Amino acid sequence: MTSATERRELLKAVYEDARNCVRCQLHQTRTQVVFGSGNADAELMFVGEAPGANEDRLGLPFVGQAGKLLDKLLNEIGFERGDVFICNVLKCRPPGNRDPQPNEIESCHSYLASQVELIEPNMICTLGNFSTKLLRGDTTGISRLHGQAQEQLIGPRAVRLYPLYHPAAALYTPSTLEALRADFHRIPELLALGPLEQPEALPPVPDFEEEEDDDDDEQVLEPARAPEAREEPAQLGLF
Ligand code: URA
Repeated sequence: MTSATERRELLKAVYEDARNCVRCQLHQTRTQVVFGSGNADAELMFVGEAPGANEDRLGLPFVGQAGKLLDKLLNEIGFERGDVFICNVLKCRPPGNRDPQPNEIESCHSYLASQVELIEPNMICTLGNFSTKLLRGDTTGISRLHGQAQEQLIGPRAVRLYPLYHPAAALYTPSTLEALRADFHRIPELLALGPLEQPEALPPVPDFEEEEDDDDDEQVLEPARAPEAREEPAQLGLF
């Protein structure tokens, strides 16, 4: 069992990795990586699609009109942004807000997988088609699935996956907003069900390498810098 503090430190390391990511072509056009924000020990996580222009500029997820709606819905059920963790399938903005491409989703997937593994949420709300299809591992669309919680294994973590319409889709379509709001208002009762039973952790892989006692190739390690001497990038204060 890893403590929340240790998991947050590990999450920061994943963020550091993502900040320098060049796995797909989106690194050429992004202003910054939008890793996610909120409580690194949240029981509730939201996963959207990809940063847009505002998110790319500010380095934060869901800061435009769709984000304002998300905040409003969160407030209606008694939550603030800081109570939950919010992120996206893609951590970099697709130019012109085009749809994420399969190779981009694939390249970025391990960041989301690590976020789920380290935050250990009990419930994940997928917002729209891209996150719903990715985390369910099938192509069923959001209009058939919204509002239906299911148990889902994501890497080593069993969570309640709760597909919701994307807030951007609800901005201009009153019937979608009505459905999103009704689904959203069921979140507290689903959370009250508590965490799912977790699968047994696999035992650590034994290390069969023989110990070297030949000191010829001993590494000269650089002295570690004190943690306070390291610069904290601004986004790390966000989770
Ligand atoms: N902003 C985000 O961060 N993600 C979306 O999916 C849409 C807007």
